[in-house]
Amino acid sequence: MTRFQNKIALVTGAARGIGRAIALKLAAEGAHIIANDIEEMAVTDSVVAEIRNLGREAFPFQADVTDRAAVRAMFDAAVDQFGRLDIVVSNAAISVRQPVIEADWAGVQRTIEVVQFGTYNVCQLAAQQMVQQELAQQNSASRNRGKIAIIGSIMGEFSAPTSSAYNMSKAALINFTRTLANEMTEHRINVNIVNPGWIDTPGERNFSTEAEIIAAGPAMPWGRLGLSEDIANAVAFLCSDEADYVTGSTLRVDGGYMASLKLPLPVGSL
Ligand code: NDP
Repeated sequence: MTRFQNKIALVTGAARGIGRAIALKLAAEGAHIIANDIEEMAVTDSVVAEIRNLGREAFPFQADVTDRAAVRAMFDAAVDQFGRLDIVVSNAAISVRQPVIEADWAGVQRTIEVVQFGTYNVCQLAAQQMVQQELAQQNSASRNRGKIAIIGSIMGEFSAPTSSAYNMSKAALINFTRTLANEMTEHRINVNIVNPGWIDTPGERNFSTEAEIIAAGPAMPWGRLGLSEDIANAVAFLCSDEADYVTGSTLRVDGGYMASLKLPLPVGSL
């Protein structure tokens, strides 16, 4: 018995990196997947082919998560195709990195739009659909409870330089998760956030060279960078029945990075 047998899951930013790994993990354990990305379908198609190779249905949908009309069209198409949504993972993000005093406003705005408003769009529509399903099933013995997982970042928890817009948006997602979880409790819809540490993904090549990424691994507390699969495993747990009593939680998956941060001065000298 697989954990997500015949569940319907939507994952944003699924063409590559962490989103791709989440889509494949859920599919490997039985889910049919709506794979979203802003990229042309040629990119998403490789994930779609892999999901189909696993024997699951895959439904690619190109949409910019900041475009509310496009996100609504995606949810409508997904429900038309599959009849319901059991799991929604809001993963898509970008980060335009510059120090605050040099920050270009368009980059600040786009980062906030994708991370914060994109997540709001996706989760709002997920919650609307899941509540509607839940109410329709109230008299049924086998009620399907929805699961919403948000991908945050440890950068929402500390002050990494040059990432102000990303940091503040990811911090906002932690509170958004708790607020939505609070509102969804009466419907028994779980809402949680995973905060990854440094994960080796294609997107990280926008900020670091290959040599820097290779050198960083042994310097990390766990002796390596995280893998997309480390995050996918955590998301799968939060979206499974095993996590029935877990909601409004922040699950940090960072190989001990945050725990290893040192004070600039010894304790006692402050
Ligand atoms: P990648 O950039 O490798 O993948 C993200 C995917 O999302 C890309 O395919 C990207 O498309 C897509 N995307 C970007 N904007 C949109 C949009 N507006 N609508 C739909 N899709 C979009 O990122 P990662 O896999 O590294 O990161 C995934 C998540 O994990 C993000 O939320 C990120 O903030 C978080 N995270 C990652 C960490 C890491 O170290 N990798 C650390 C902490 C958190 P395109 O290529 O065109 O931009």
